[in-house]
Amino acid sequence: MSQTVCSILIPMYNEEEVIEETYHRLKNVMDKIGESYELVFVNDGSKDRSAQIISDLAKTDENIRLIDFSRNFGHQIAVTAGLDYVQGEAIVIIDADLQDPPEVIPQMLEKWREGYDVVYGKRLKRQGETAFKKASAHVYYRVLGALTDGNIPRDTGDFRLINRKVCEAIKELPEKNRFLRGMVNWVGFNQIAVEYVRDERWAGETKYPLKKMLKFAADGIFSFTYKPLKLATYIGLFLSVIGFLYLLVVLFQRLFTDTALTGWASLMAVTLVFHGITLVILGIVGEYIGRIYEEVKGRPLYIVKETIGFKNDKKDS
Ligand code: UDP
Ligand code: MG
Repeated sequence: MSQTVCSILIPMYNEEEVIEETYHRLKNVMDKIGESYELVFVNDGSKDRSAQIISDLAKTDENIRLIDFSRNFGHQIAVTAGLDYVQGEAIVIIDADLQDPPEVIPQMLEKWREGYDVVYGKRLKRQGETAFKKASAHVYYRVLGALTDGNIPRDTGDFRLINRKVCEAIKELPEKNRFLRGMVNWVGFNQIAVEYVRDERWAGETKYPLKKMLKFAADGIFSFTYKPLKLATYIGLFLSVIGFLYLLVVLFQRLFTDTALTGWASLMAVTLVFHGITLVILGIVGEYIGRIYEEVKGRPLYIVKETIGFKNDKKDS
């Protein structure tokens, strides 16, 4: 068994402006705790000097590890890769941009020592994020909560501590579209929250543009519930009832009045509404089929170009 007590897992994508500061803040906190630790940086195909900065630092600090991807695979995959490599008994997942304050880590470790398996950071306040991001996150977590019967804690990100048991359990989940905060919750065990104020990004810009955010949000819903599929049934039933009632009206008009055959507008309306609904439902079905396709292909989740600081390092040839 390894000696490392605590692993800090830091996914990074184009973080050259902040990553050195992040390293110093983390090192500061971890040195004070006085347990053996490793800082595992996962470079998610950065196009800037992030990886270079870390590999230079690794020459002077033997606690640094680097997993360098062959390209950008996405934040959730980067964290997944980190979990495959970390050695520690307690694993803390933290963003590279210092939005999650490293100073909360000792509190998390304390809870872990008390016997909790998962200690997740709960955002009391978000600083320096746009009103749109805050509002959309607020709505999203509530929709997700309703769809998944409240099983995924609100307002928590991936900033959390998990122990070895939970890490091994998550490694058993092979899905390709990963929504880690949901998966950690799904595996169960003893979970507790630690509250913190989410800071502003220390430097640089968000690496989650709207497109990535939407994909991530969709993963949360489509990977954790098939309720959207039931929507087709509900809407279908509802419209059938309306349709039947309207049929009665039409029949009545035809038989007992002379106002029949004036219905072009209503026909058009019905056609448009039904086509719209059909396409939406088809899209929802497509989301699931696409995900099934991803799973069936069975490709690896990520490709590692090079590692630094591990026992059997993979070299970039
Ligand atoms: N990140 C990553 N790969 C990506 C996008 C982001 O590894 O494709 C990392 C990023 O470097 C950061 C974390 O994921 O450490 C969260 O990203 P960011 O802070 O940009 O997201 P936000 O806080 O704006 O939601
Ligand atoms: Mg951030």
